[in-house]
Amino acid sequence: MPELSKRVETFTDSVIRRMTRISNKYGAINLSQGFPDFDPPKEITDALERAAHKGPHQYSITFGAKNFRDALAAKVSKTFKREVDPETELCVTCGSTEAMMTAMMTICNPGDKVMVFSPFYENYGADAILSGADPIYIPLVPPEYNFDIKLIEEGFKKGAKAIIICNPSNPCGKVFTRDELEAIGELAVKYDAFVVTDEVYEHMVYAPNVHTAFASLPGMFDHTITCNSLSKTYSITGWRLGYICGPAKVIEAARKVHDFLTVGAAAPLQEAAVAGLTLPESYYEDLLRIYTEKRDFFLAGLDKIGLKHNIPQGTYFVMIDIAEFLELPQFKGYSDLEFCEWMIQNIGVAAVPGSSFFREPVNNLIRLHFARQQSTLEEALLRLEKMVDLMP
Ligand code: GLN
Repeated sequence: MPELSKRVETFTDSVIRRMTRISNKYGAINLSQGFPDFDPPKEITDALERAAHKGPHQYSITFGAKNFRDALAAKVSKTFKREVDPETELCVTCGSTEAMMTAMMTICNPGDKVMVFSPFYENYGADAILSGADPIYIPLVPPEYNFDIKLIEEGFKKGAKAIIICNPSNPCGKVFTRDELEAIGELAVKYDAFVVTDEVYEHMVYAPNVHTAFASLPGMFDHTITCNSLSKTYSITGWRLGYICGPAKVIEAARKVHDFLTVGAAAPLQEAAVAGLTLPESYYEDLLRIYTEKRDFFLAGLDKIGLKHNIPQGTYFVMIDIAEFLELPQFKGYSDLEFCEWMIQNIGVAAVPGSSFFREPVNNLIRLHFARQQSTLEEALLRLEKMVDLMP
């Protein structure tokens, strides 16, 4: 057989999504890949039923159906405190996964440097390889996940064309403060660089933290390429609806990339999701209340068991420190991945090994998520209690 591309040899499949497959194989409670186990809003599922009968069933406009882009523009305009033009400043994609890949392919030539925080959502690694970008990693240092702005300036001095900011941050739950974002923004202006954001957890930001959309900062819209999705906000991760928002010149180019990558997001799903985009403000307040309750319940449960963890300011992820387990004789020499595999088979709970998010050799953290019904979270905590029985 002829050789495959060198490119595909340089990255593995997604560990996050692999953990779901292993979890399913052993029938564990899956707290690895982040997606809810509860239904989307009824308004959306009712609209889907209507779309099933009335259509559309054929292609939408490649960069997004008109009514979907209009509804999206109205929502994003509120967040950005600026009128977003659905005709020139939006491109609808197949999830934020495609949004980020398309954004990277739109701005990067092979060898271009792009800054990525570490820990980072694992897709960015593959996105960099596939788009030919050369990542410069900026550590977010646990347990507070702070960063050194001087390292970002150094990155720009080395010629970085862009910085990727996941805010709120998967996997560490960091919510960047306005001051932090403004400091990065000043550098982006000074060095004439792009800020590519992933803001899919924008509605899961726990008080007193607040979400600041990068593009909403004064003067920043022209530097920002916002990647976002409907997956988390409306509990429709399987619908694969995402978008890129940015300056018209960037979007014009991104639409070309997107057109040849995927043609377009599913037309009937765009039609149905308009019912989500037009929900009242109270929907987002309820969503945040529900996730705040889940976070508080789950973290309190972890505390009661005695598992060490960070306190996520946003997202539905929590990092657990497994260092003391790895010191036990039965886990001698275990990697975090092996520990997660052991957990799936012996505890019945699936997590993601932290090493898949860190550039640095971190082996003592695993990521769990709490986007689960109350009964699922209760059962997961009961199972996790068994871990502590291992301690001497
Ligand atoms: N963002 C989710 C996670 O980190 C999953 C996204 C995906 O698998 N596409 O678990």
